[in-house]
Formats: sequence, C-alpha cells, structure tokens
Amino acid sequence: MKIAIVNPPFFKKVNRDYNYCNFDNALHYPIWLSYLTCLLMNKGHEPVLYDLIADDMDLEKSVSRIEFDSPEIIVVQASVHTLEFDLSFMYLLKKRIDSVKIIVVGDLPTISPGSLLVDNKFIDFVCIGFFDYSVLQIIDYIKTDKLDFASIPGTGFRRADEGIEVNCSRNFGLPDLSGKKLSHVYRKFLNYRKYSFEGSLSPVIAVQTSRGCDSLCSYCVNARIFCNDERIEFPVNDVISELDHIVENFSEIREIYFDDINFHSSSKRTLDICRAIKKKKYPFQWSANVCPDIDVKVLQEMKSSGCRMLNVGLESLDPSVLELYNRNVDIPSVTDFIENCINLDITLNAFFMIGSPLEKRYNLRMILDMVKKYRKVNFIVQRLVVFPNTVLFKEASEDLILAEKTYENLKYYTIERPEFTSEHMKTFMRLFENQKVSFPVIKEIKNFLFN
Ligand code: SF4
Repeated sequence: MKIAIVNPPFFKKVNRDYNYCNFDNALHYPIWLSYLTCLLMNKGHEPVLYDLIADDMDLEKSVSRIEFDSPEIIVVQASVHTLEFDLSFMYLLKKRIDSVKIIVVGDLPTISPGSLLVDNKFIDFVCIGFFDYSVLQIIDYIKTDKLDFASIPGTGFRRADEGIEVNCSRNFGLPDLSGKKLSHVYRKFLNYRKYSFEGSLSPVIAVQTSRGCDSLCSYCVNARIFCNDERIEFPVNDVISELDHIVENFSEIREIYFDDINFHSSSKRTLDICRAIKKKKYPFQWSANVCPDIDVKVLQEMKSSGCRMLNVGLESLDPSVLELYNRNVDIPSVTDFIENCINLDITLNAFFMIGSPLEKRYNLRMILDMVKKYRKVNFIVQRLVVFPNTVLFKEASEDLILAEKTYENLKYYTIERPEFTSEHMKTFMRLFENQKVSFPVIKEIKNFLFN
C-alpha cells in the first residue's frame, strides 16, 4: 500500500510542529512527521516522506508531484495558521487522485476534529494530539478491511453513510525506534544539509528526547492542547542509541538540536542525559529548548557535555503577566539563569512575548533595560499569538479583546486593547530590532515608552 506522509507547501518557511514562522531563514525538520515515518517503517509499511516546504514548491507543483506517485493514503500535517492553504492542498489531492484516503494530523485537527470533518468532505480521517499510533492503526485497519475505526483512540472519521464519529480519548506512546532510527528517515527522504535552526551550527540534526511539558502555561498550545498536559520521555538509552547512529552515518555533523517542547523536566533526567553524552565523547555540540528554571550545577554539566546554545522563553518581566500566563518562574531566578548561561559561555536566545491582556508600556521599558544589561544575549521579541482552545483564548474571548488577523497568508489571533494597540506594538518591535545595531534609536524607544 502506497503511503505519503506530507508537510504541505507554504509561502514561507513555517514550522507546523510549533506553529510559527522561522527566523533567520532557518528551516526546521518536520520532526513529528519524521517520527511517524520511522514508526511506519518499523511496523512493516513503506511510507514516503515529502517535505514540500524544504523543496520550496508551490501549490500546483506540490500537488502534481504527489499525484505522480499516486499514493493510496496521504497523511497531511495541518496547522491553525496555515489553515486555508492546507485545506486547498488537500482538496486538490482528493480531486486528482482516485480513491485516495486523506488523514489529517497536527494542531488543526486536534483543536477542531469534528468541524474539520463536517466542513471538508475531502478529509477522511483526523487525528487528535500525538498521532503516531492513531495513524498506524488507521492504516492497518484500512489494509485489512477492518472497519471499526471508532475503536481507535484519538481519531475522527467519516462513515460510509457520511456521518462523523470522533473518539476523543488520546493515543499516547513513543514511536518504536527498535529497528530503523529517526536518522534513517532523514537519510532516506530529506536533504539534511538544507535544515537549520536559528543560530545553529551547520550541518545540524534534530532529535527529540521527550514530548510534552509538565508546566501549565495558559497560552501554550503545544504542551496543553496538542500533548494534552502529558509529558513522555524517550529512555536515555534510546536517545544515546540515536546519537550513536547519527555519528556513524553523518560524520560531518556539527550540532544536535534537541527539538523537545521543553528539554529539561528534572535535574536527574537532564544530568543522566548529559553524563551519557559526555561518556561518549561525541564530536558534536548540542542545543535545546528550555525554561529558565535550570540551576547552575545542571547548567555546568550541560555545558561540559557539549551544550552550546539554549532557546529560552522568558515571555515577560512583569510578575502580574507571568501570573496570568501561569508561568512558574520568578524574575530573580530568571536573571540568575541568564547570568549563569553568560558565565558558562552558553549562547542564549531569549524570547519575550508582548501584547498580553495586562501589558503596560512600563513592561516594554523593563525588557529594554534587560536588553541593554545583557548584551551577550540574543533577545527576540514576538507578539503574543493566542491559540484557540487555550485557557488564555477563552479568557480573552470572554473579555472581548480578541482580534482575528491575517498576515502574509497566516491566520492568527491577538489581543487588542485601546491602551495598547497593534500600532504601539509594531512601533516597539521595529525600534527594538533597530536598537540592536544603532544606539541613537534607543532614545526613540524611550520617547515611545515614556511619552
Ligand atoms: S513551559 Fe513552555 S512548553 Fe511548557 S507549558 Fe509553558 S510554554 Fe508550554
């Protein structure tokens, strides 16, 4: 049975796993689809993975390419931001490939599984949350003519009589890596030299050590909605066995990117991974996404095992905003974390989100003060995007401060308040970007902040 696993094309280098546009022209691996491909291979299927963003193909060429290979099942990852485009892509595939079955995975079907099926007759199945084993079961059932799709957790489908059924229980489980490794998938289907992360060394390879996060941030779509507040972790031995395979097969690799939502869950686990890496004396350095809650001893061990760069979400320096976000961090420990990373010479990309329902101009001044104080840190300011179904989305809808926007074909929601409008934020973000290279602009920012 021919199976296509597809990251659909788009106008920009979007990351559908984390629902954002990449910076610095970076191109992220389609990591969730790669793990799915790996699982299907290990279970005896012969899927083909297509990353049409990496191939820089337009809609028509992308559809023609898949049509030419005429798969019987197509798994498409769709996201809230790229909704319209992803639907057009699937519509065309269904129209042009006879009897093809379309399975949709990702945050879009997780947020609205039933309505996605009701509104789009060209979709046959949707998967909710972690989709590896839901997709595997759907394919196995189709292959063996077993029609009891309702028994598959985390799945919605269209019955023969056009009725819709959704089984909202979740299908957790880590993909089986006992045979093929993730890096087999990269070698077979992707050109690893094309991929990069913001600030990463090249060539870089992405792997996961875990999925989900134990924190309960009110705005988080990945951990809270997609992973349903669950965190599961690959055994450390499996992580090391994947790294061994990478070193054997990609000799020139310079960096490993641990593409977890949050790499660090406990000191013990992080130390276990670092010590296992250190023992191996790998030739690469590594980077990861973390929260600013790692103590200095763990950071030291991370550094000595090759940690070169960390991406950290600081989000805000205002305690009331952090409380609204349900962030379990305090400002003194954030500054300790930053100073520890600087002292250990770990490159830090630190992210702020502005535009919360409690945002004040004063908050922007605090960000600016921090930027000036820690010149070695690469600070990035982004606008808060509120995802459907999150706690923050529900609260903002009730307060009538939610605004739907479209920007360069991306659809998203933000907070709009008269005292803190889009124009205020755009101005600040433009000035913030400029001030990184030009001192006089700092004056301009001050005018903006204090006038
Ligand atoms: S710490 Fe990060 S990954 Fe975890 S819930 Fe908060 S925003 Fe999501």
